[in-house]
Amino acid sequence: MNEFGLIREYFNWPIKDPSVTLGVGDDAALLSLEKGDQVVTTIDTLVEGVHFSASTPAKDIAHKSLAVNLSDIAAMGAKAKYFTLAITLPKINKSWLQEFSDSLRQLSGQYEVSLVGGDTTRGPLNITITLIGIVESSKALTRSGARPGDGIYVSGTIGDAGFCLWKLSNGLIPSNQELKRLNCPIPRVELGLVLKNLASACIDVSDGLEQDLSHILKASSVGAIIEVEKIPISEALLDHIKDSNDWSIPLCGGDDYELCFTIPEGKEEALKIVSESCNVNITRIGIVSESLGLQIEGFDGPRKSYQHF
Ligand code: ADP
Ligand code: MG
Repeated sequence: MNEFGLIREYFNWPIKDPSVTLGVGDDAALLSLEKGDQVVTTIDTLVEGVHFSASTPAKDIAHKSLAVNLSDIAAMGAKAKYFTLAITLPKINKSWLQEFSDSLRQLSGQYEVSLVGGDTTRGPLNITITLIGIVESSKALTRSGARPGDGIYVSGTIGDAGFCLWKLSNGLIPSNQELKRLNCPIPRVELGLVLKNLASACIDVSDGLEQDLSHILKASSVGAIIEVEKIPISEALLDHIKDSNDWSIPLCGGDDYELCFTIPEGKEEALKIVSESCNVNITRIGIVSESLGLQIEGFDGPRKSYQHF
């Protein structure tokens, strides 16, 4: 099997979206967009040994590669539409490719995003997905709109993926649920779309709550006060925190792919409806302040956020 056979076999399934005028197979894809929409685009790379281990199943690698990008588009309040896949493979392994392809096709079908092109090369395993979305012009949810007095909220629970990673690196066996949080994050796609009309700022929590919330604060030229006791935490992680008196996992563990956002006062009722309609827990963890910096009440122990370099 050569490169072209590989693309045909694993990455060229039928596309239903009529706005894909030309997909996989030509020199580039042609996408027909509606007037009044803005294009939103994001890219993420997953590298073996950095973002996943050699033992991670192909289906999980495929899932996560697309899910992390869906999470970014959700955090912009936009609708994901198309993606391209640059894949570097050490060799052609048909069963691995089939599992990867099936998983990618499944998730892309679930969120109605179309694979419209890519690049296939040989080398150390590496997956890069570029995701393209749309949003009504000037409606996108950015990091820069938080104002003093806004409430700070997060979806779901925070720290589960970090806890899973901590267990793995300490020779402990994570539960299946914890492994799922690390390897198969569920992007908050529906939530992002409705928050567009409600939130003042939003980010997805990929590098740790403390660091990601700080990005909102910096972009918005504001500060914040949060309370660690208010951060929504799963039971197992809470037990670990009680034993160790260490909040660094929910504060700095990455890979949660929950949304962290700010909501102007008076919109709490609307937010409750959003939580019910999207079937996701939403928790208030603090408030935006005028004085700069992030004040964390309840924990001042050592911690370190993830940095690539
Ligand atoms: P070119 O040499 O013009 O870059 P390629 O041979 O790389 O073309 O790719 C041929 C076609 O297959 C292009 O339409 C490209 O977008 C698509 N393609 C290549 N690799 C992938 C992939 N991994 N997934 C989806 N489409 C791919
Ligand atoms: Mg190419």
